[in-house]
Formats: sequence, C-alpha cells, structure tokens
Amino acid sequence: MSIEKTIPYKIYLREADMPKQWYNLRADMQKKPAPLLNPQTHAPATLDDLTPVFCRELAEQELNTTDAYIDIPEDVRKFYMMYRPSPLVRAYCLEQALGTPAHIYYKFEGNNTSGSHKLNSAIAQAYYAKKEGLKGVTTETGAGQWGTALSMACSYFGLDCQVYMVKCSYEQKPFRREVMRTYGASVTPSPSNTTEVGRRILEAHPGTTGSLGCAISEAVEVAVKKDGYRYVLGSVLNQVLLHQSIIGLETKTALDQYGIKPDIIIGCAGGGSNLGGLIAPFMGEKLRGEADYRFIAVEPASCPSLTRGKYAYDFCDTGMVCPLAKMYTLGCDFIPSANHAGGLRYHGMSSTLSELYDQGLMEATSVEQTHVFEAATQFARIEGILPAPESSHAIRVAIDEALKCKETGEAKTIVFGLTGTGYFDMVAYEKYNNGEMSDYIPTDAELEASFAKLPKI
Ligand SMILES: *Cc1c(COP(=O)(O)O)cnc(C)c1O
Repeated sequence: MSIEKTIPYKIYLREADMPKQWYNLRADMQKKPAPLLNPQTHAPATLDDLTPVFCRELAEQELNTTDAYIDIPEDVRKFYMMYRPSPLVRAYCLEQALGTPAHIYYKFEGNNTSGSHKLNSAIAQAYYAKKEGLKGVTTETGAGQWGTALSMACSYFGLDCQVYMVKCSYEQKPFRREVMRTYGASVTPSPSNTTEVGRRILEAHPGTTGSLGCAISEAVEVAVKKDGYRYVLGSVLNQVLLHQSIIGLETKTALDQYGIKPDIIIGCAGGGSNLGGLIAPFMGEKLRGEADYRFIAVEPASCPSLTRGKYAYDFCDTGMVCPLAKMYTLGCDFIPSANHAGGLRYHGMSSTLSELYDQGLMEATSVEQTHVFEAATQFARIEGILPAPESSHAIRVAIDEALKCKETGEAKTIVFGLTGTGYFDMVAYEKYNNGEMSDYIPTDAELEASFAKLPKI
C-alpha cells in the first residue's frame, strides 16, 4: 500500500495558532442540558448554591449557557505552552497494518507528566482558585490521573492540594501516589478517619477498599469545612468540558489547515470530559447546520451509563452533598466491577453529552475489556505508544470502524482521542498478558436494583 506523503505523520500547530478562547458548546444548543438542582430544595442551583463548594469563576462557568467563547487566562495559556499544542497524528502505520482505505487520525494528550488530558482542566481550576485567594483545594482520585494532574497544577500556582485517593488504588498504584507527593500534594487513602463521612463509612464497612463516590464525599466535606479551601472535580462538570474544548479546537484547526473533514469522531467516555472537549467545535457546526459528523462515545461494558443507564436526575456523589444533575446514570450507589480502565468507572455522564445523546446527535457503544486490551496491544506494537486502558476504548472502536471501511471500500476519515499513556497501568497489562483478564457485564437485575434508588424528581 502506498503512503500519502502530503499529510505529515504529525500535524503540529504553531504556538501562535493555539486557541485563545475555550468554546462553550451549550451556547449553541437550542435545547440546553437540564439545570443542576439544589440537593435540598430541588430548585435550579444558583451561584450562591455552588460557591460554598466551588471557586466563584468556575461556578459561573458551570452555569454559563450563553457565552460561546470564554477567554483562556494568560497564565493558563503560558502553562499550556509547556506541553501544547498537542500533536494530531496520522496513523499511517495502523492503516497499513489493517489494510483499510480509511484515514485514521488521533489527538494525543499523553505528552505531559500526568500522562493524560486531565491537566488541561487542572491548570485552569488551580488558576481560578489562586486568583480567588484560596489556600488550597481538595479532590478525590480513583485511578490517580486526576490527582496527578491537579498536584502538578497546584504546585505551579503555589496552592495546597489535598487528594483523597480510593484506598485500593492507593495501595495498588504506589507510583502515582509518589508522583503526587513529589509535586507537594498530600494523599490520604479513602475512606479515612480524617472526615466524619469517612469515619461513618469505616464503621459501617470495616476493611472496605473505598469507592469514588465515598472519596468525593470526603473531599467535599474538607473543602466546605476548611477555611480557604474549595473542592475541584476532574470530569463530568460543564466547566471541565469547557476547558477540554482546547482538544477539539486544536484538532479542528489542524485538520482545517489540510482541508480535511472527518466523517467519524470517536472518544472514550467516563464522565465525558475528553469526548465533550474533542467533539465540541464539530458538534457546534452540526448544531448550527454547517456540517455533519458521526460522533461515537465508547464506554466499558462494565459501566455502561449511556448505553444502559437511565436519563434522570441523580446525585453526583455517594454523600449526596453535591448538586443533582440530570444525566444518563447507573445510580449513584452503583459500584462497577473491578475494571482496569479506572478513569471510566463513574456512575453518571456529563449532562451536556447526556442531552446530545438523548437528542440523537451522538451515538454510544460499549466494549468489553479483553477486546479493549487486544486493541491496546495492537496499537502499541504498530503505532509505538503504550495507550492508557481508558484511551484504548476509543482505539477499539476506531479499529472496528476502519475494518468496516475495508469491507465496504470506503475511504472514511476517522478521528479519535488518545487521552493518555498507560505506564501506571501495567498491572492491568500483566493480567491481560497472563490471560487472566475477565469481562464483567452487570445484569439487568443489578441495574434495576440501582435505578430503584434514584431520587424521585
Ligand atoms: C480520566 C480519564 C479518562 C476519562 O475521563 P473523561 O472525563 O470521560 O474524559 C479517559 N482517559 C484517560 C487517560 C483518563 O485519565
């Protein structure tokens, strides 16, 4: 097969072409995502409801459904310059190995120490916390990527960073923990006896290895009680999708330079931030009737919020202190089976993506983890990058779509988000290499039991 020479292997933008504004997709949605609700009164959440938990400017971004563009602060842009623009790679070698006429591109977000796209929002959130004069922020981390990104961002702005890390990850991923500590963060295994909610959970479930919902509740409790602290979150929220729009804006600028129009855009979906960011400017064109694209969200079969969840108001955390969000959800008590794509284990999905999916503007599919690791291994051997298990969900579906093109002979252009690297996920790769990886898919009865506990609104 001949290789086109006109399009380089890597399309790097000039620094001057890096976006100066984030794009707020909700401004172009005619039917907006349903508003967040105050967890006590069930009235739409106001700025005053949000500011005890979140920084003021971030709370404003959370509620902003009208401004399409929001300036990226100069200090955030300076930090972005150290690792952005990120490359858009033409997967020539993968295309050749698959023997597909499809053109495959991936936007690689793993080129920073945290190893994922999460740094794009971490640095923005730390900036606003610093600007507000706060002493520090608290957060939870499951697999560890978000905590790592936030610890880097906080050290850059001289903020204290307190991370509640799900206990089983804390024990299984000592190196992630040490990266956070190296950047000055304090890391506490959750549940812990440093919070009321932690002590309550430990008493009820001695020996528990923790969950994301529980770690969120601990982090929120500390933020609300401690003077000069706020809580920050690495996905799901509208503000996070806004910051991640830099992924899509760069992708679109790079493709436009070569006159390339994608047919299919694919991303893995945990809370929806990387996917929401990648598709944002393209979805904006679709909403305005300027162009059409297929968008595919890929989630694990073990945690299928879009493909099998309910579109309903639900709590964002187990402690039920955060606002209620209308989203595709498996129920806030749903604990997915041990899946190695830790970053995709959240029970709900961004309210913006949920609404787009509900309107039929985006597709969703779920994949089993052994098939994901097959694709991850194939990709690593051909394209050279060792992908994160989360990112590999998108790789799986990109390969499947490229193979469909091989059957039909169509030269479609496929773009997918390669959100990160898998260096800290070698226990998962070890399981796969040893043939010990299993696929767990929740039964309908398990999901129904969880839906029965959804708040009645
Ligand atoms: C956290 C994470 C994800 C999933 O989060 P989203 O908010 O859905 O983007 C995907 N890939 C990597 C590498 C992650 O760290």
